Amino acid sequence: PSSKIVPEPHWGLLIVLSGPSGVGKGTVSARLRERAPELIYSVSVTSRAPRPGEVEGVNYFFRSRETFLRMVAEDAFLEWAEYVNNLYGTPKDFVVQNLREGRDVLLEIEVQGALQVRERFPAGIFIFLVPPSWEELRRRISGRGTEEDAEIAARLEKSWEELQMARHYDYIVVNDDVDRAVDRILAIITAEHLRAERM
Ligand code: 5GP
Repeated sequence: PSSKIVPEPHWGLLIVLSGPSGVGKGTVSARLRERAPELIYSVSVTSRAPRPGEVEGVNYFFRSRETFLRMVAEDAFLEWAEYVNNLYGTPKDFVVQNLREGRDVLLEIEVQGALQVRERFPAGIFIFLVPPSWEELRRRISGRGTEEDAEIAARLEKSWEELQMARHYDYIVVNDDVDRAVDRILAIITAEHLRAERM
């Protein structure tokens, strides 16, 4: 039972970005960070192995499953979830410290974790990235051409399930074009900063 966090008016905004596998969330979040460098990106902890090119402390903090579970016991995470047999979690102190200092923080996390953040930090802004159509997502997932049919079928299934979670979010952003999707996210952040209760 984790305690609720209630931000004060001077705190920054917590922006949570999710979307189904294959929607291009990583690309959109990278472009968003280029275009809004003042936005603090929360680097997650994961138990999965680094992929080629991934850097400790930049893409993730790579930890053993054992260390991860110890961090869970210490309540070190704002949220955590198991996704395709790996554990992922958002370091709580880093996020809360930056919010307190008035900086906006971006979490790029999957849906189970986002739902936990909603419980614990209801003031968060929840944005769900969707493809222009299910057909387009199918094409993006199938089109990579590197995986087995069974693997593709499993990814399609997972993406379909994830798409059904869109209704739990505050905003739905279509990723038809990376910069247009980023324009929409920046518009949301601007509008949220202008909400009367924050002035
Ligand atoms: P990947 O292994 O491809 O880097 O990430 C798999 C999924 O885990 C992606 O949907 C990614 O957004 C999500 N993810 C990354 N970090 C976290 C986290 O800290 N918490 C949760 N719940 N999901 C995360």
